Amino acid sequence: MVSRVIPVEPFDLIIFGGTGDLARRKILPGLFQRFRAGQIPAGSRIIGVARNDMTAAQYRKFVNTALDEFAGNVPAGKEVRAGFKQCLEFVTLDVADAKAWRKLTTLLNKNANAIRAYYLSVKPDLFAPIAQQLAAAKVVQPTCRIVIEKPLGRDLASAQALNSALATVFDETQIYRIDHYLGKETVQNLMVLRFANALLEPVWNARHIDHVQITVAETVGIGDRGGYYDRSGALRDMVQNHLMQLLCLTAMEPPVRLEADFIRDEKLKVIRALDPVALNETVRGQYRADSVEGSYHDHAGDAASNTESFIALKAHISNWRWSGVPFYLRTGKRLRARLSEIAVTFKDPPHSIFPKTVSYGANSLIIRLQPDEGITQHMIIKEPGLGGLRLVDVPLDMSFATSLNGVEIAEAYERLIMDVIRGDQTLFMRGDEVEAAWDWTDRIRAQWREAGGKSQLYDPGTSGPDDALALMHRDGRSWRPLESQP
Ligand code: NAD
Repeated sequence: MVSRVIPVEPFDLIIFGGTGDLARRKILPGLFQRFRAGQIPAGSRIIGVARNDMTAAQYRKFVNTALDEFAGNVPAGKEVRAGFKQCLEFVTLDVADAKAWRKLTTLLNKNANAIRAYYLSVKPDLFAPIAQQLAAAKVVQPTCRIVIEKPLGRDLASAQALNSALATVFDETQIYRIDHYLGKETVQNLMVLRFANALLEPVWNARHIDHVQITVAETVGIGDRGGYYDRSGALRDMVQNHLMQLLCLTAMEPPVRLEADFIRDEKLKVIRALDPVALNETVRGQYRADSVEGSYHDHAGDAASNTESFIALKAHISNWRWSGVPFYLRTGKRLRARLSEIAVTFKDPPHSIFPKTVSYGANSLIIRLQPDEGITQHMIIKEPGLGGLRLVDVPLDMSFATSLNGVEIAEAYERLIMDVIRGDQTLFMRGDEVEAAWDWTDRIRAQWREAGGKSQLYDPGTSGPDDALALMHRDGRSWRPLESQP
């Protein structure tokens, strides 16, 4: 199967922070892939902006090295690389220096009518100053877009301040808040799965679903991001954005149409329907040291830190569809496996016709984001053979890479950047969604602060602290094992 490529209009993409880690690892390789696929037309410009003292020629070399490192497995002839290099420009600029903007604005004005996207791949305290400088330089037209990504604030108040600052320069329809989880194939497939398959929607509710588990587990620690991470923690770094978005797409009502605001309205309703989480329904953890790496405290450089590198919690959505169905969320560092999935467990049939001696588990539907994006439906069937009736759980496994004849799955950033250029906000978060999610997570942190409890220590390579297991066991349920399995 060949994926269809529809070229976008020629554009200017300005990457503030064009020499940074995110630009090197994700944005530039993503753009290169789209160029190689024929989606980026000639005449488009990718303008790196950073403080580095570099010429455009040096930047092209810099990007070439980044591509060797992060797009090295992509078969691309020399001409493709050369063609991509022709799109690249570079401007040395300290964005805090108002006088230094002239070179950039002159370059932009050469192509004043192009679709223009400003990608702010810089630390968040530069978001508002850059927006203001762009306005002052008169390079914000209605066809311009601005792209930002997490952290979008660190609580409700700072998120509101950021949204207000951006709103003085950009209309909401011009603001693209990236959550790269939304760019994953499986996440979009979640909507197709739910709303294009008539057999699922009738059972997608509290009558038929027992509970939902959402897991984003990492094997790596906080590494050299220690300082940043320690001021954030798993709740702010992962739950407020990535896990929240997965929860919304799993739980939302069918939107009226597949249009950005219809979908975002439905996601917002889910967040607003979330009950405050009870203190005893959250578990915080910090990883210990092992023979390979130091502990969370070693990495954070603060032996007294109580910031969580793991969190598990039980969320309730108070609406007709989900009343009484717990959504268990967990995410953490240095866990047993690198795994992101949504697991929907259905209720047992209302009446069993099988002898009590015949045991079988509940149906579950697993939506895997990584590794190996795909969907698995667990079905109960009769174990083949003679000698009595035995039932077994058989996974009906649909790995996208194998099921779709090896069609290449685009990286999230490739899709998202092309959506920015096309002006499609469907996979981006709206300001009010982000604020509502902060409001909910802020209350959890406020409870922690008031209660003053401690994060529980857990061993690396495990599923997290014991209390996280207990969170489900006391409801008579258990987490899915943290293993890369169908
Ligand atoms: P980085 O420190 O590697 O790069 C920062 C870039 O900003 C550099 O190009 C630097 O020259 C430029 N810069 C800094 N101050 C500047 C100034 N005053 N004027 C002009 N340019 C300036 O950071 P990063 O890891 O690339 O992260 C960038 C942003 O993306 C951050 O907000 C980060 O939280 C976010 N983010 C990063 C990742 C990632 O994987 N690295 C993932 C998600 C979000």
